[in-house]
Amino acid sequence: MSDPLREDLASIPRYVPGKAIPDAVKLSSNEVPYGPLPGVVDAITEAAEGIHRYPDLGVVELRDALAARIGVPAERIVTGTGSVALIGHLMQAVAGPGAEIVYSWRSFEAYPIAATVAGLRSVRVPNTADHRHDVDAMIAAVGPDTRAVILCSPNNPTGPALTAEEIDRVFDAVPESVLVVIDEAYREFVTDPACPDAIERYSGRPNAVVFRTFSKAWGLAGLRVGYMVATPEVAGAVSRCVIPFAVNAAAQRAALAALEAEGEMRRRVALVTSERKRTVMAARELVPDVPDSQANFFWLPLGDKAVEFAAHCEELGILVRPFGGDGVRVTIGLPEENDALLDALRAFVEAQG
Ligand code: PMP
Repeated sequence: MSDPLREDLASIPRYVPGKAIPDAVKLSSNEVPYGPLPGVVDAITEAAEGIHRYPDLGVVELRDALAARIGVPAERIVTGTGSVALIGHLMQAVAGPGAEIVYSWRSFEAYPIAATVAGLRSVRVPNTADHRHDVDAMIAAVGPDTRAVILCSPNNPTGPALTAEEIDRVFDAVPESVLVVIDEAYREFVTDPACPDAIERYSGRPNAVVFRTFSKAWGLAGLRVGYMVATPEVAGAVSRCVIPFAVNAAAQRAALAALEAEGEMRRRVALVTSERKRTVMAARELVPDVPDSQANFFWLPLGDKAVEFAAHCEELGILVRPFGGDGVRVTIGLPEENDALLDALRAFVEAQG
């Protein structure tokens, strides 16, 4: 009997979630540490009364609210079960025999997984020595089979965001038949004015696709809501790939309530970015080539010490996210959590001599 399963699935690396150990300091999943935004828990509680009914298939209220905020028609917005699901759906929408997708590496670990599942060939372009996208090499990697180029800005897990000049260069170099996908999961944490809001700057372009999420700054990681902005044609194609009722009733109400609490979201983001500045500066005293971060995490380029440092942190009750042989991603937490991480790093570096 022949094996009914696809052979290529066995080669896909597993998505590694940040560890969760009760009572540990969790700096491993890029969450914001302050709990849900005001009004969100009440909205979910209210939505719970109606969960014997299917949710709104079109996610109309949320898409309308987003459309009003960002100034594009709702037909250009697709919502999904987190932006990670939409990234997968976009890949399904562009896949076909021989089709390729270009992205930087190291970048978000879901890209190679989603590409292989969709049947797309991944073309990975190594980051520069300072852990940024190598924009010129990415442009050079675009060929006749390329359907899309992903720019992860800020880049998970290394932290830097792309400048307007860099993203402009990509748009100017690639044909309009190649989608330029800008993954802005961490956009709210960007403080460098050289790094643009991609919806504002590029959503008028026919090949621009921008991803955003409610998981990070908006504090809804556990409910799974993300969205995508693109042309009506691309949005229409991706929405055909979305599993019906992908955004559940509680998630839609919670996202609407979170949008109402934007002021508090901004206040919390400012706490994170000021802690980021302090923590990255202190970490650089110990590990000199920590790159700039525009996100709510930063990168410790520890090379083959990455796993050892993560184990050392875990012994101290701190969870971080190692990428073996490469580096460690550390989420910005509360001030005392960041201090604990810095103490752990100091002890580790000193013990290395
Ligand atoms: N893009 C990037 C760059 C991310 O880091 C993440 C979360 N780790 C996502 C997308 C997906 O986020 P979500 O599915 O929670 O919206």
